[in-house]
Amino acid sequence: MSVLSRTLTLLAALPLAMGLCVAEANAAPLSSSVSAATTGAEWGGYENGKIPASALCAISWQTVDHLRCDAAVRFEALNTAYKAKWGANICVNDAYRSYAKQVALYDELGPGVAAVPGTSNHGWGVAVDLGCGVGIFGNARHVWFAVNAPKYGFTQPEWALIGSSRAEAWHWQFFGADLPTYLTTTKPATVATVASTGTWPRTLTAAISKRNTSALLAGVPVTITRRSVTGTTVTTVGTYPTDAAGQVAYTFYPKKPTVVTFTYAGSTDSLPSTVSVTVKTPTVMTGKVTVGSPNTLKGHLATTGGTVMAARTVYLQRRYAGSSTWTTVASGSTNSNGDFSSTQQPKRATYYRFYFPGVSGQYVRDYSPSLYVTY
Ligand SMILES: [Zn+2]
Repeated sequence: MSVLSRTLTLLAALPLAMGLCVAEANAAPLSSSVSAATTGAEWGGYENGKIPASALCAISWQTVDHLRCDAAVRFEALNTAYKAKWGANICVNDAYRSYAKQVALYDELGPGVAAVPGTSNHGWGVAVDLGCGVGIFGNARHVWFAVNAPKYGFTQPEWALIGSSRAEAWHWQFFGADLPTYLTTTKPATVATVASTGTWPRTLTAAISKRNTSALLAGVPVTITRRSVTGTTVTTVGTYPTDAAGQVAYTFYPKKPTVVTFTYAGSTDSLPSTVSVTVKTPTVMTGKVTVGSPNTLKGHLATTGGTVMAARTVYLQRRYAGSSTWTTVASGSTNSNGDFSSTQQPKRATYYRFYFPGVSGQYVRDYSPSLYVTY
């Protein structure tokens, strides 16, 4: 059944006298031949974001927001179930969005964040942005919503799911009877995400969740492996069960730039997932001055773990006392001891510092403390 024919059936069958809808069902020219299945969400012969208020229905507990009327009716029913569970109405941050509002949003947030004006499903009155926990992946209300909203024709479009580069936990859409197939699979995909804290040591925390609900998986085995960024030998750290929050943590000292991978092999009711993260090695740049005329300044570069870093480009920078501007006055490679020396003859009170700019994806940059030199 197409969304449109379902629309008419629903609108005819449900008690509009309840005041849920501000528009009469026949106010919209639903006889248009467009179908949600073949043309996206467009309907009624309207343009995206240019749907007359008379063709939309207000959300009863927040009448400033509107949806297409069939979506509004089902959203009301979903809210009744939500309220029975959570004791409050669904928090709606946005629903139908006019073309002008989408243009303003696009100007403010830019491409990749806001949809190109004329393409957002908010402009068709079938999308809602939700808050109060529903808008956070893994939150109990989000999980409840993911399990229950499809009964009312609502779910997240695939691009908004956890694990997507454009993931938006808060964005939900009305699909009516045409729910996406990823919801109906008996073996849903899982998503591994990783958070990182600390420097030395570094703690990586991976979380495994089901993609279609974002429900976190507790007690499932996750294998942790590591390898050097510049090498190919993979070392297995071990296999550990996720905790009650669906998480496994790994704490280590990144003496070398390291790629850490967390792998969940899947089970009879969920597909596998994996996530890798590159951990850069922190560095320590130090410096000292030999008093003389001219002065000799010597910098030394090592990792936080104490490994000397040879053949790395470092810089000597200067700022005059009273100025905040640093200027590079010398550069060169560290020798086999991790040292780099430069002689300077300051003509006024001057601060010097050594600077290691880091290596992309491998080593963290560092500055030495300032060295004060009188003239
Ligand atoms: Zn949205």
